[in-house]
Amino acid sequence: MHQAVAAIDIGGTNTVIGLVNRDGKILGKDSLRTTDYTDPKDLVAAAAKKIFALVDVSRSQNGGCALAGAGIGTPNGNYFSGTIEFAPNLKWKGVIPLAEYFSAALQVKTVLTNDANAAAFGEMYFGGAKWMKDFIFITLGTGLGSGIVVDGRMIYGHDGFAGELGHVIVMQHGRQCGCGRKGCLEQYCSATGIVKTYLEIIRSSDPQALDSLGSTVVDAKTIYEMALSGDENAFYAFNYTGEMLGLALANSVAYTSPQAIFLFGGLAQAGELLFNPTIISFEKNLLNIYRDKIKILPSSLPENDAPILGAASLIWNELPAAL
Ligand SMILES: [Zn+2]
Repeated sequence: MHQAVAAIDIGGTNTVIGLVNRDGKILGKDSLRTTDYTDPKDLVAAAAKKIFALVDVSRSQNGGCALAGAGIGTPNGNYFSGTIEFAPNLKWKGVIPLAEYFSAALQVKTVLTNDANAAAFGEMYFGGAKWMKDFIFITLGTGLGSGIVVDGRMIYGHDGFAGELGHVIVMQHGRQCGCGRKGCLEQYCSATGIVKTYLEIIRSSDPQALDSLGSTVVDAKTIYEMALSGDENAFYAFNYTGEMLGLALANSVAYTSPQAIFLFGGLAQAGELLFNPTIISFEKNLLNIYRDKIKILPSSLPENDAPILGAASLIWNELPAAL
């Protein structure tokens, strides 16, 4: 019988679960609404039920598989303690021992980490970083998340929270961040950051454009579409985002000297609009010993399945190779 792992991605709205084999093939997938569960134990019970159902289905479709472990990606996940700690986007408050709950429900080894670290594991196991030992993985979503891999190992630091590049301060007295401080990178380089940039640009230089927006909801996607259709303000918003991102990434290189930096998430899908200014700013701001050596690449993980593949590779990484 084949081995498979349960991959669980806890999001603010939805929790996605999958059954994944060692080659990264998703044998089954299901989801539930995170917001339906005020007690995390109830979510664990419901998710475990769905996982066992997927294992049952695989018996009839794929010759069956045995559950070898479980991996969890979650906001504010702490790998060392297996807990979610004070996640702002989840209803559950305080410190929740989620890995312990899942391990008890599924009766297998269970590991947990934050969602960006999990996706970075996915890139290392099933994506473009397969043959790399040193790389940085950046998720550009509502916020900016990161995973830093050095010598083939995820950097957790002494307490499990290493790699919060989204909260590196890039502008003194800058934009207010959800973390309580000002000028964090994610306030500039994220889907919400680019909207702020765009609105700032038109407020200061082109108030008529602000009027003509009317009730249009401006989000990263509309800015992308406007930039493609030749809107200079939108194009400049991407340039500014890339400039800030390139500068921050150039600084991060000094710590770990990576082989490549991967960009993942909705904003990264803007392609050249984001990558061109990012790479120009990155090279311009790099110390000369690093120049022209480090690739900035789009993630090769499939956008929708990346969280599941990431959570799966997190646990595969800890299971013996013979499984
Ligand atoms: Zn912050």
